[in-house]
Amino acid sequence: MPKLPGNLTLFRKLVLASILVGLLPMILGFSLSYVSQRDTIQKTMGSAFQVLARETGVKLGLLIHDLLDRATDLAQSDRLAEVTTEADRGYKGLTMDRRAVDALEEFRLRNPLQYHLIVLTDREGRVIGAAPRERAGRRTYRGEMEWEAAFDGGRGKLFVGNITWDPVLSVYTLNLALPVLREGKVAGVLILIHTVDRLFKSVTDVHIGRTDHTMLAASDGTLLFCPVFQIKHHTLSRGLTQEIFRERDGWNTTRVDVHYPGREAINGFAPVALNIENLSPKSLGGQRWYIFTSQDPEETYGPLRSLLGWTAFSAGMGVLILAVLAVLVVRTIVRPITLLQARAREIVEGIQALPRTHGETSTSSGLPKMSIHTGDEIRDLAETFSEMAGTLDRTRRLLAETTRRLEEMAITDELTGLYNRRHVMDELKAEFSRSTRFGLPLSCMAIDLDFFKEVNDRYGHLAGDAVLRQISDLFHKNFREPDILARIGGEEFLVILPQTDVQGALAKAELLRGQVEQHAFTIDHGETIRMTISIGVAAYLDERVKNIDHLLKIADDALYRSKETGRNRVSRG
Ligand code: GH3
Ligand code: MG
Ligand code: MG
Repeated sequence: MPKLPGNLTLFRKLVLASILVGLLPMILGFSLSYVSQRDTIQKTMGSAFQVLARETGVKLGLLIHDLLDRATDLAQSDRLAEVTTEADRGYKGLTMDRRAVDALEEFRLRNPLQYHLIVLTDREGRVIGAAPRERAGRRTYRGEMEWEAAFDGGRGKLFVGNITWDPVLSVYTLNLALPVLREGKVAGVLILIHTVDRLFKSVTDVHIGRTDHTMLAASDGTLLFCPVFQIKHHTLSRGLTQEIFRERDGWNTTRVDVHYPGREAINGFAPVALNIENLSPKSLGGQRWYIFTSQDPEETYGPLRSLLGWTAFSAGMGVLILAVLAVLVVRTIVRPITLLQARAREIVEGIQALPRTHGETSTSSGLPKMSIHTGDEIRDLAETFSEMAGTLDRTRRLLAETTRRLEEMAITDELTGLYNRRHVMDELKAEFSRSTRFGLPLSCMAIDLDFFKEVNDRYGHLAGDAVLRQISDLFHKNFREPDILARIGGEEFLVILPQTDVQGALAKAELLRGQVEQHAFTIDHGETIRMTISIGVAAYLDERVKNIDHLLKIADDALYRSKETGRNRVSRG
């Protein structure tokens, strides 16, 4: 078996192409499932975060309502009404009112960790009571934003302050302020300062997953509360604020998330609804509050990452399987091609080793070349085939020439170049049947050299051959194109004369006999001798002749008679 060539370009090409073709749907399928999975995750998680934000917003609203309700109860209690009225009558704000302090302390102790400070002022802003009393840092609240908002020029409004960082307390605080009314008039102002951490933790401590955060921001982007890290003076980027609060309630994906900047995070967001009657417009710093929620994208897109992982794994396995399959399949294609090429090369080399015919100089054929430029085994095969086609063409020509020469040899007498016995018999059959069919005359002459043996005996065999060649030349000169000349034995000749009657044949024979008689045959060293021939003539259109044997027999008999009657003569059969 021929060895496979080292050049396996086609092999590599086909294997690579099969892998690519196999991978393409895989990559396409993966991309589609990746996109749809990502879409699904964004939609479901986005909706979940939106719901979370909305519910947290509602809970926060309820919480503030609840705080206000409880503060209102306190403000409307008889004890506070009394102390504020008395204070109104003559209190100068030098010392706190014992009963007011007790009432506030009692209220605070119901929730000691939630309330940082509760203050009661009279209608002038002077502190009547505080709980804990030592935390009351100042004597008057007049001019303070929350006091002015709640007093509202004596009309009285509910005030919910913005969540702010208190640098002295190092905590985030939420201030509520509300008027203490007595007989429809503002008798004092109750200020409640809440520590936000404890207050909001319970509201925001709801999770969908492990890492999600619920945060509170003002519509100007200030981050007001975040349960997981110190947000001191943190302001959301303008982009995120615009992105998130462009819609009032919903979800979006962003890369400017507070926790995960640069990564695609999903945010749910919803406004905090505060439907409070008689709310001071200064509340919440004149802004709206928004809850927004997000989660570590690692967790959010976790399923997608595992999909990616599995896809990469299955793609790897797929490539491996494809490669093995491709190698197996391609081997069945490339192997025969390389074997064909090798076999074709052997044929080319075998033909090139053949002897060249006379005059042949190159193996190039006139055949057009196949133009295949694939640069691989197919190109090699094509080139070898082109070469093979050329050498085969050359072989065809060689064969044609050889056949022609063999055919010529098969019908020719080697010594004289005349036809041989077999061929003249074939020709005679053909001519005889044509003559019988069309009623045409046909003649033949049997010719024998006289005393030829003597030439051989005296001058040698080579001289005899020379005489035979010369007499053949003489025959050639004396006969026409359609006449068929043959040497049928050693020095015996047969001539067929188609469409020639016996008279014509006899005349021709006589002429020939004369020519031979006159001819000087050269034998050796320029020596010449004289020769004579005896001829027997037979012709068709003779009732005795039914077939060519009859014709030949008559010619032979006539020849014999010529010999008998002295040679160098023509006899008619
Ligand atoms: P006849 O007049 O009776 O025909 O006498 P002949 O000598 O010609 O007759 P014969 O048939 O006895 O002799 C023929 C001779 O021709 C015998 C042989 O030596 C010779 N001969 C036959 N074929 C060849 C040949 O190819 N070359 C040569 N040189 N001689 C041949
Ligand atoms: Mg003879
Ligand atoms: Mg003879």
